[in-house]
Amino acid sequence: MTRIVRTVRGDIAPGELGPCDAHEHLFLATPLQPGEELDDVAAATEEARSLVAAGAAALVEWTPLGLGRNLDGLVAVSEATGLHVVAATGLHRDAHYEDDSAFRTADIDALAERFVADLARCGVIKLGASYHLLTPFEQRAFAAAAAAHEQTGAPVCVHTEVGTMGLRIVERLRSLGVPPESVVLAHLDRNPDAGEHADTATAGAWLQLDGPGRTKYWPDSTILKLIDDLAERGHADRILVGGDTGRRSMMRSYGGGPGLDYVFVRFKPRLERELGAELARRIFVANPARAFAFELRDARP
Ligand SMILES: [Zn+2]
Repeated sequence: MTRIVRTVRGDIAPGELGPCDAHEHLFLATPLQPGEELDDVAAATEEARSLVAAGAAALVEWTPLGLGRNLDGLVAVSEATGLHVVAATGLHRDAHYEDDSAFRTADIDALAERFVADLARCGVIKLGASYHLLTPFEQRAFAAAAAAHEQTGAPVCVHTEVGTMGLRIVERLRSLGVPPESVVLAHLDRNPDAGEHADTATAGAWLQLDGPGRTKYWPDSTILKLIDDLAERGHADRILVGGDTGRRSMMRSYGGGPGLDYVFVRFKPRLERELGAELARRIFVANPARAFAFELRDARP
């Protein structure tokens, strides 16, 4: 069986992915973050160029449907910089959508059909969960994502709110037919509790830590400690790291900081120094090549 990573410019072998920033946004607009819109191709290209200069070869863009996602823009950025870009279909958590959003009234079959159609160009299915709960909107999105996963095999990438409900999300997706090995949980470092996340890793899911540079919430040392604790417990082969630089105020090209490249310029070298180059290579190269790869299925788009 051929495993591939589906980028916006076509399928590549997992081994071609290279050093990967597992969670970013180059285009994003949400009513939850007014004034923080990422909507400029030139700015996105400039940021992507800085990431490539810092040693990255790939980026997973987690902006789902209805929130300013720009697939043509991602193709343009990828062409201009050579960066492999994996795009997302799917839906974010409930709170990101207006009351009159068409996604609120779409049924599960219609959503699944839309996700599958998108997966001709996208390589992951995004979902969102609320704080310690799944709203009816999110439950429908989960069911639709599971149906789209069944048809395509694409990984299911889930926003957790403050790092909550990791294992419950994995169990719910498993009950819908999505194996834990195909599930990536984001933002787990917002609840830097290695013991809790170890259970989720034991179940077989991917643990993503994506808050380097968010110094007003916690220092990078907290994330390094969490990585060290998870590795100590035997879960180094389940960890992914991204920057999640999803705001205008975080991008230098829009006049903010620390910039898209922070995770590669600052965090990765520190990880290498403090926890070893081998662990860093696993987290930034080997693990993404497994987490974001999938077997092409017959019913593929
Ligand atoms: Zn994000």
